[in-house]
Amino acid sequence: MKFKVPRGTQDILPSESWKWQKAEQLIRETCEVYRYSEIRTPMFEQTELFQRAVGDTTDIVSKEMYTFKDRGDRSMTLRPEGTAPVVRSFVEHKMFGWVDQPVKLYYIEPMFRYERQQAGRYRQFVQFGTEAIGSADPAIDAEVIALALEVYKRAGLKDIKLVLNSLGDKESRIAHRDALVAHFTPHIDEFCSDCQNRLEKNPLRILDCKVDREHPLMKTAPSLTDYLNDESRAYFEALKELLTIAGISYELDPNLVRGLDYYNHTAFEIMSTAQGFGAITTLCGGGRYDGLSEEIGGPPAPGIGFGMSIERLLLALEAEQVPLANDDALDVYVVTLGEAAKKEGFHVLQKLRSAGIRADMDYLDRKMKAQMKSADRLQSKWVTVIGEEEVEQQIVQLKNMAEGTQQSVTVTELIELIKG
Ligand code: ATP
Ligand code: MG
Repeated sequence: MKFKVPRGTQDILPSESWKWQKAEQLIRETCEVYRYSEIRTPMFEQTELFQRAVGDTTDIVSKEMYTFKDRGDRSMTLRPEGTAPVVRSFVEHKMFGWVDQPVKLYYIEPMFRYERQQAGRYRQFVQFGTEAIGSADPAIDAEVIALALEVYKRAGLKDIKLVLNSLGDKESRIAHRDALVAHFTPHIDEFCSDCQNRLEKNPLRILDCKVDREHPLMKTAPSLTDYLNDESRAYFEALKELLTIAGISYELDPNLVRGLDYYNHTAFEIMSTAQGFGAITTLCGGGRYDGLSEEIGGPPAPGIGFGMSIERLLLALEAEQVPLANDDALDVYVVTLGEAAKKEGFHVLQKLRSAGIRADMDYLDRKMKAQMKSADRLQSKWVTVIGEEEVEQQIVQLKNMAEGTQQSVTVTELIELIKG
């Protein structure tokens, strides 16, 4: 019997894992600069949390969740997205009472969605997301958008664009909803069964349909922008002005509605415009969710956040052929000749490592030439050679690989030189 990695998942091998570490590192640094703190929530939650928070008519809840009964007969679901768990935690831990408001959180965690596998779409993927909860100031929307863009910029991406829309407040959405129903009802039998369902439950979702996206009625659908009331319009204008102040350019897309039910006002996506990126070009999606806390039993707590997967970030880097900086080359490779030298070499190796120096040696009793080859392959900056003579004199031969120079030094000198 042969076992394989489950469909839609991947093993991240050492040739790739360093990229993940770099990406996570630059994300954490950016969050620190913007003063967002990490939150870690469980990998599974009560199913009902997602049903309520994300919404029954969304793709996520209606067909993508990994739901199972635990041994106590409770329905649990592997986390498909990060906002609902974070807001659940916000309510449960009464973060609305914290002195420091709004509460600014981020996470880097695996998400699970039962999707058809394709490039950039996995069943387990890692999402970096932020949530700023407790403020309805358009400035925090601008901050969150700036943070997301900053991550891509720091990673070295150039071919990206910000796409923006406003979904308005409840009143605006109800007016728009009525217009949508009137627009789609006469031709609803030309749409997929999901859309037919959505017409009654949540017609806005039709605009986000991946099956019927080319239907002519999609292009002529009433635009949300025309249904924004004064307050919603003012909010959107304020956000756009702040983005301009921050030097952030954007494109408007009145059909951008996002996959989740709980969004209002600001909705945005960051897309890759790189040649050859493939069919899926959205790198990051986010928006404002002012009613979500109440929806799951908490007090009013307006919030905004986004989610982006590391998978798509790395794909975009590949598409733009931007290499992530890799400064992980070895500092020292310890080459030894003979039994006694091997023991001394092991001793030197441990001393180097204790001093925080990246060092390694041969464990296959290879000849000197093969050991030197390993040092080369590992791009070691230095090589120490230890033979019988060196053991007797308590020294090592130190080679600087870039300069091709060699000198005899004691172990203490060796450490000083390399740390130098
Ligand atoms: P899509 O339209 O691509 O299905 P979505 O609306 O389901 O996206 P969100 O739930 O908003 O996406 O998730 C935010 C981000 O998470 C996406 O922009 C993308 O970077 C990433 N993402 C979503 N689903 C996957 C997946 N299956 N594999 C990898 N990354 C994903
Ligand atoms: Mg999706």
